[in-house]
Amino acid sequence: MTDIPTYKHNDTQTLENYWMPFTANRQFKANPRMLAEAEGMYYKDTSGRAILDGTAGLWCCNAGHGRKEISEAVSRQINKMDYAPSFQMGHPLAFELAERLANISPQGLNKVFFTNSGSESVDSALKIAINYHRANGEATRTRFIGRELGYHGVGFGGISVGGIGGNRKTFSQQLLPGVDHLPHTLDMQNNAFTRGMPKTGAEKADVLEQLVALHGAENIAAVIVEPMSGSAGVILPPEGYLKRLRAITKKHGILLIFDEVITGFGRVGDAFASQRWDVTPDMITTAKALNNGAIPMGAVLIDDDIYDACMQGPEGIELFHGYTYSGHPVAAAAAIASLNIYENEKLFERSKELEGYFEDAIHSLKGLPNIIDIRNIGLVGGIQFSPSEKGVGKRGFGIFETCFDKGTLVRATADIIAISPPLIVSKQEIDQIVNTLSDAIRAVG
Ligand code: PLP
Repeated sequence: MTDIPTYKHNDTQTLENYWMPFTANRQFKANPRMLAEAEGMYYKDTSGRAILDGTAGLWCCNAGHGRKEISEAVSRQINKMDYAPSFQMGHPLAFELAERLANISPQGLNKVFFTNSGSESVDSALKIAINYHRANGEATRTRFIGRELGYHGVGFGGISVGGIGGNRKTFSQQLLPGVDHLPHTLDMQNNAFTRGMPKTGAEKADVLEQLVALHGAENIAAVIVEPMSGSAGVILPPEGYLKRLRAITKKHGILLIFDEVITGFGRVGDAFASQRWDVTPDMITTAKALNNGAIPMGAVLIDDDIYDACMQGPEGIELFHGYTYSGHPVAAAAAIASLNIYENEKLFERSKELEGYFEDAIHSLKGLPNIIDIRNIGLVGGIQFSPSEKGVGKRGFGIFETCFDKGTLVRATADIIAISPPLIVSKQEIDQIVNTLSDAIRAVG
């Protein structure tokens, strides 16, 4: 067996060559935070210091780290067959995984298209929507409607339907034409410190009627929203909002896509947020916890009617789209092992069971300096701070850094701290995350 290289803190390794994603590279390289190992609820940094994972990596590792069932499945599969092409060829694991996903997905979403990331899932879903309408004889339906503050990855399709200014502005001339946005649902004036779903704001979905009047239903392919916005800072849908979006899209023959890259696989209490809130979209985009973050993989779950419509017409390739690594056998093995863990350990249910405890814990922070809102659902929480006079995002980043120094990983987006621990988290570990946060908030001020 070859040796696994071990990395030492502050050794001679250069940091110069790696251009890190979504990272302040110069700041990081001056003061690196290097993770080297992971087991259960903990990372270890390169100096061997334990760091409690309050974010499931990057919303990925819902079953915790170092799961032997996954690493053994990966090892078995890579030794048996490392790779198989997926264009005009197949292998059993991809079909098995598709069946497993269909079994846990909302009713009717029985078809699965494999990708390698959330961004690719989003772009695939947008293309499938256009392909579907064209197959259905409605080729003018090509427009998309996203939502302000939405995050749908970083492909040109994803940033076009996305609604986070910072991700779009640099590329503004190259965004997809024919995209409009619904208003976001964050309303701190009326809903600050709401536990669970806000009671008011469902009428924001009705703006869709105005956009339909403006662009014409016959020109609109799909509406895409995250049922709960994760990356923009844990923004929950008001009660009834998603149902209204569903009713309006249905009325006008517009597809509804839920981007569940974060909310999928138990984060908000059921396999998918769609089930938790009893609203079935036409497609669901997934990635991240699909295989517990072990190997890049994503999937789009698709309604049978869409697939069936695309299967009409002369025999031949029905969708000119796909990836070299679609349904990769090793990633699929990791996903099946992950689904087994989620099922055997009832982790989706656990997320719901712990919701009340988690909710009380994070809302106990109310009253600490500069907190202007706390939001939560399932095992996800967002704590919003007023920006410091040093600039937007400085306070959030300071709290993130201080928590890391104190041995807990949380996530900062601007001045919002998000917490989304692995679903195996214990009550004591929830307390530990919240206590560290409390200390960090006081220290940063
Ligand atoms: N969609 C949503 C809702 C996400 O939260 C993310 C990533 O955080 C993506 C898409 C993009 O996923 P990826 O980074 O795997 O491309």
